Amino acid sequence: MAKLYFYYSAMNAGKTTTLLQSNYNYRERGMETLLFTPSIDTRRARGVIASRIGLEADAYPVDETFDFFEFVACAHGEMPKLACVLVDEAQFLTKAQVVQLSKVTTLLKLPVLCYGLRTDFQGEPFEGSKYLLSWAQEMTEIKTICHCGSKATMNLRVDADGRAVKEGPAVEVGGNERYVALCRKHYDTAVENP
Ligand SMILES: [Zn+2]
Repeated sequence: MAKLYFYYSAMNAGKTTTLLQSNYNYRERGMETLLFTPSIDTRRARGVIASRIGLEADAYPVDETFDFFEFVACAHGEMPKLACVLVDEAQFLTKAQVVQLSKVTTLLKLPVLCYGLRTDFQGEPFEGSKYLLSWAQEMTEIKTICHCGSKATMNLRVDADGRAVKEGPAVEVGGNERYVALCRKHYDTAVENP
């Protein structure tokens, strides 16, 4: 059975690099893939998934009104070798879109690989991540470490001077320098002593 996969992590753990590697593996074997990225991510030109180590691939930009099931069902008819759907920045998906992606696995029998952050800079779950963590059949943590060597699970947002930011909207897509992946202890220390 095709499954819904969620690869989750803190910031800067290499999610996008992992996505692009998986995509490459499918294409190397002569299979076709569909890549999606939220249009909220404007670090690069719209419709490109780019990793920090220089890999990139074309992707369909999507917003919260986009219907994954409708699009993939339509594309599937014209792509006989379509073997996989990959979604970057999956934390920005809506609940309805996670449902649509589930239907891609059950009705279209295509595996869906989603990559995203588990929580925002205040430790709150993103909508997409909340439902992916609830409904994905397979979950894999992509690990990265805090400066102390412990596993980083929290995302600290910092200002231009490197001080902890405690308030603001969850979504602020921009340069990686705005976030630091930390363990719980060092996240708490940074937030309590900005
Ligand atoms: Zn630490």
